[in-house]
Amino acid sequence: MKLSLALLAAAASGAAAFAPVNTNGLRSVTELNARQPIMAGNWKMNPTTEADALNLANGFTALLNEMEDTCAMDEVEGCTEVVLFPPFPFISKVMDIVGKAGITVGAQQVYYQDKGAFTGSVAASMVKSVGCEYVLCGHSERRSLFSDSDANINAKVKKTLEFGMKPILCIGETQEEYDLDITKEVCAMQVSKDLAGVSKEEMADVVIAYEPVWAIGTGLVCDSDASNEVHKYIRTVLAKMYDDEVAQATRIQYGGSVTPESVDQLMAKSDIDGCLVGGASLFADKFARIVNFEKL
Ligand code: PEP
Repeated sequence: MKLSLALLAAAASGAAAFAPVNTNGLRSVTELNARQPIMAGNWKMNPTTEADALNLANGFTALLNEMEDTCAMDEVEGCTEVVLFPPFPFISKVMDIVGKAGITVGAQQVYYQDKGAFTGSVAASMVKSVGCEYVLCGHSERRSLFSDSDANINAKVKKTLEFGMKPILCIGETQEEYDLDITKEVCAMQVSKDLAGVSKEEMADVVIAYEPVWAIGTGLVCDSDASNEVHKYIRTVLAKMYDDEVAQATRIQYGGSVTPESVDQLMAKSDIDGCLVGGASLFADKFARIVNFEKL
């Protein structure tokens, strides 16, 4: 896990690494430094050809190279970590292109078995061996379309960690659950089941993405204050499962129809540490603007 120099210095001195939340609910400079922002682009089953995927990777990399606020994996102060999740067949070639700009590549999913007669599946060792650093676990499309249960997701999170990669655990309520006003209960249940058996030390490599299912691919962005409240609540769940240190150090992304128009407001909130972006990540200019969000 990358830590900011400010966080390392604070940890070394025993000082509090995290500033209190501003009374206006906005993120302070200290907080921005404490949890490195992480922006991820989930290409899903797009683009449809290798040529188009490489065009997208090239276009995005070119735009990012013109910007100052993103950075290579080991340079951390004040920068935003960027991760792309292309379809499996494009991973290696996309990595060749974007790696030079310090962009990390991950896998959209893995199976929890190590190898064998599982036609169509991809193992954690496979994506690790081609250079993936992150794996999406529990994306709502995997839950709803491919029957990923919390038990399976938990096994995939643990397999990802076992192979030295970092899971981005996606959680969030459906429209029906939102209408029933059980968002917090759903998130608490998913966090506790999906992270069961994950140690405090391993949590340093876990990112959580709060993605209200009703906001994914619909154009409906969750209100930034409402989303921030859920993020804060998720930290209370982590504090109970682990401790305050884990609760404050874990990066929690928001996902659901994020656009260049909505990103600044979301990223201004105290407990939103980045975004998981689907549709807009398929447009180099839109995703570059999202990655280069304005710090309000
Ligand atoms: C996603 O795929 O995780 C997602 C948030 O998609 P979109 O940005 O298109 O809503």
